[in-house]
Amino acid sequence: MINKPKEYDFASLLDNDELVMRQALSLAKKAADIGEVPVGCIIMENNKIIAAEYNRRETDQDATAHAEILALRAAGKHRPSWRLDGCDLYVTLEPCLMCSGAIIQARIRRLIFGAPDPKGGMAGSIYNVFDLPANHQVIISGLVLQEECSGQLKDFFQRRRLMGSKDGF
Ligand SMILES: [Zn+2]
Repeated sequence: MINKPKEYDFASLLDNDELVMRQALSLAKKAADIGEVPVGCIIMENNKIIAAEYNRRETDQDATAHAEILALRAAGKHRPSWRLDGCDLYVTLEPCLMCSGAIIQARIRRLIFGAPDPKGGMAGSIYNVFDLPANHQVIISGLVLQEECSGQLKDFFQRRRLMGSKDGF
């Protein structure tokens, strides 16, 4: 462990965080249905969903087609502005290095994730890039519906192993 995991800011959790995370979970289910690693992402602005996406890396054959990146792009078009200050990003899995960087770049106010990712999580599991000095600080609220989010991923990989695929996320 290079970096101490961030203290999750439970005080910043909002009443509807679980509700929104449930919607992100059903997006992730859609990804699983088409053979994608189940990760779903929602961006909220003033209690309204402005982006709802799921992982499409295989479908698009695009290494950057993670749910968060697709949602940041959709939210930027919706506003329209790449600056998503005041917006909250919900994702079922702890963001990777690429997505964590993009979340900071987009000036997201709060990051709310479900399952920690011991293999690639950059919001405290492997490293915490959100702790690096940057001109924008993201509030990290976690871990919302951790069991459901972790369970969905575990089920997916278990099924895939049974089917003989070795490719990891
Ligand atoms: Zn990512």
